Order: sequence, then structure tokens, then C-alpha cells
Amino acid sequence: MWIYLNNAFVKREEALISVFDHGFLYGDGVYETIRSYGDRLFMRDEHVARLFRSAEAIGLTIPIPKERWPELLHESMARNGVGNAQQDAYLRITVSRGVGDIGLDPALCPSPTVVIMAKPLVTPAATFYEKGVELIIASTRRNLPSALSPHIKATNFLNNILAKREAIAAGAFDSILLNWEHHLTECTVSNLFFVTDGRLQTPSVECGLLDGITRAVVIQLAREQRISTEEGRFAPVQLHRADECFVTNTSMEIMPVTAVDHKQIGSGKPGPLTRQLRKLFIGARERFLEPASPR
Ligand code: PLP
Repeated sequence: MWIYLNNAFVKREEALISVFDHGFLYGDGVYETIRSYGDRLFMRDEHVARLFRSAEAIGLTIPIPKERWPELLHESMARNGVGNAQQDAYLRITVSRGVGDIGLDPALCPSPTVVIMAKPLVTPAATFYEKGVELIIASTRRNLPSALSPHIKATNFLNNILAKREAIAAGAFDSILLNWEHHLTECTVSNLFFVTDGRLQTPSVECGLLDGITRAVVIQLAREQRISTEEGRFAPVQLHRADECFVTNTSMEIMPVTAVDHKQIGSGKPGPLTRQLRKLFIGARERFLEPASPR
């Protein structure tokens, strides 16, 4: 595996960073995960734009201009033999504050650490999509936006890790986090949707959640099909009573959910609107990929 680390591609064993990196010391950094379909990246510019927005929100200047990212991401894939007709790629970009003395002042770190990893994409087994997965509602709450905005895709991921630990302990696929007002937000690495009487519903970004890129695609596709779609504030009971539920993220796309808190959702099988949206997503995916030729 070849890793891009601060201006050079190095072997995995040589991709080492200092114990003084503020990403390690304080979780001071931002990241993105992107996937390819064959050699084309899904929503490439949107992911790069979100990386820059996250960095800007914490006052971190990314030392590589936006225009260079497509070429770097493709070089990362090519060097690792992924992002081709045989193998879709999973890319992880991390930009940390960089190396500096101990202390919180970002000025201690003169240059950010930039890492790109590219590896084969691993998606959940087909049976998960066929049968649906189970979620729980975690006791861990989503970060209060005025404390640490969930819009920032930060390398400080403890909030989500604690909720994930709850899911693992409960034998569930993942956890849903509530916000400070007991409203639904999202899961630990995905956005949440549910269906009530044919109406597609999803917590609005104001509830305090990551503005997921797949979430936006699903909302767009649903609206194009004139499927009634509502972004709003929802209580857990509304989800418990829903007819269908699913979660979205870049690598899983649309994953059906058939139980929440050990209670069946709808028929206990992936619902008709979930299946319709999954089909739509697969059919329309091409529109959301970067151009096939020169970048
Ligand atoms: N919510 C959280 C907390 C995430 O970490 C992610 C993705 O990693 C998502 C939602 C889904 O975002 P996207 O669709 O952009 O992958």
C-alpha cells in the first residue's frame, strides 16, 4: 500500500507521523472518505468542498489547492491498483493540524499533516441489503452544534465511537444518536431516513448532523420522482412507528433498516420505497460521478 504523506507517496511501513502531531494529541484535524465506481469518483467535488469547509471551520489551511485534489486522488488509486474496472476504491483523506509542541494553540504547528490512503472498497454483505439491519437509539447524544458542530467532519470522533460501542454491546448494526432536544439526528457514520404513510422523512441539518453527500443525492432523486420528502425535527416515537427506515453513506449507499431498539419496523423487511430509492440510486449513479476522461 502506498500512502500519500506530505508531498510524497511512501510505503505503508514508512507512513509514520510524529507523536507530537496535534491530530494524535488532540484530535485536531479533519477528514473525508470518498469512493469510486470503477475509475470514477462519486461526488468528487462535493467531498473536496466539504473537506475545505471542515478545515475552514477550524481555521486550518489545507496546503494543497482544490484543483490538485483530483489528480492526487487518482494517483493514490493508481499506485494502489484500485479505482479501476476490477476494483472500486475507498479513499480516506486526513488533514491534521500538524506537528507542534504540546499545547492547544494551533500556531504551535507550522504545517498541517496531509495523508491520503486508497484501498479496495469493502461494502456490507448482500444479505444485509436483502434482510435489512437493526439499529438502536444510543444513550450517547450527538455533539451540541455550539460545542462541536457535527457539520465539521473532524478527526475527533469520540462522540460517534461511544455510540458505536453501545451498538456493538447491543448486537446492533449501528446506533442512532439523539440531539439535545431528544430529536433524531443520524447514525455514527451515516444519515437516517424513514417513511411514514408514503412520505420520506429525514432529520434536518439544523438538528445537528453531518450534511451527508449521499443524503443530498437521495433527497434530490426522491424530489425528482415527486416523492413527498420532508426534512424536519422528529422524535424517536415517530421512527418507532414508521413503515420503513434506511440509512445512507458514501460506501454503503442505501442500507435498509428493519428493526430499531429490537422492535420491528413496518413489515420487518426492506420496504417498497426503500427498494424503489435503492433502484433509483443505482440507475442514476452515473450522473453523480466525475467525468470519465481527462480531469
Ligand atoms: N454522518 C456521519 C457522522 C458520517 O461520518 C458520515 C460519513 O462518513 C455520514 C453521515 C454520511 O455522509 P456521506 O453520505 O457524505 O458519506
